Amino acid sequence: MHTDDNLRRQYLDAMGIPVWERRALSVVPIADTTMRITAAPTAAVMSRPAETSPDWAALEEAVRSCTKCALHSTRTQTVFGVGNRKAQWMFVGEAPGADEDRQGEPFVGAAGKLLNAMLAALGLKREEVFIANVLKCRPPNNRDPQVDEVEQCEPYLIRQIELIQPKLIVALGRHAAHSLLKTDLALARLRGQPLSYQNIPLVVTYHPAYLLRTPSDKRKAWEDLRRARRIIAETATP
Ligand code: URA
Repeated sequence: MHTDDNLRRQYLDAMGIPVWERRALSVVPIADTTMRITAAPTAAVMSRPAETSPDWAALEEAVRSCTKCALHSTRTQTVFGVGNRKAQWMFVGEAPGADEDRQGEPFVGAAGKLLNAMLAALGLKREEVFIANVLKCRPPNNRDPQVDEVEQCEPYLIRQIELIQPKLIVALGRHAAHSLLKTDLALARLRGQPLSYQNIPLVVTYHPAYLLRTPSDKRKAWEDLRRARRIIAETATP
């Protein structure tokens, strides 16, 4: 077997997906194309004055010094996002956990290791993609993000997307999906659907932390990622 195939097999193994299952999945059709959700910018974003649409340096500083919600008082540091600022792929998670809060980088704990394996299975390096969260600060005890926290923080994510202009966004879990799509539909209803955020194709899949708790759904996540790869291949400029 070719070395690349070997590597891919190792990463699929790391995701918990035996290769024979991967072959079986290759006949799974893309889900039907009946539902379309295209998120509109929130009123807060639309009314954002020009001076709060900063370039990267100013955006980083705005995030670093943010005190717009109560999470600033419990954070160790903000977690801005990491990766290629001209990435084709952008992955959006929920919020930093304890490891991320300590290190200042998204997805560096156990869920991050699985995300890295998911990326590698796609043939992507972590540095090639951009990884960010809806919230830039850790919620205490890893509780769910609150509505006001998402509202205050989402202009930062929206600006990151505007600056990167990725070819595709992967929403990891329901919080990312709900925030970007402005819907509260269940993840099961959103997976496999043709969705977009500001005309950028958006694929919803399971959060890696959920997959660590529910490994039997890793095969479905791999289906989502393969679908995302097909969308990227269809839209990629030569
Ligand atoms: N979970 C997330 O959603 N984001 C992180 O950065 C880490 C864990």
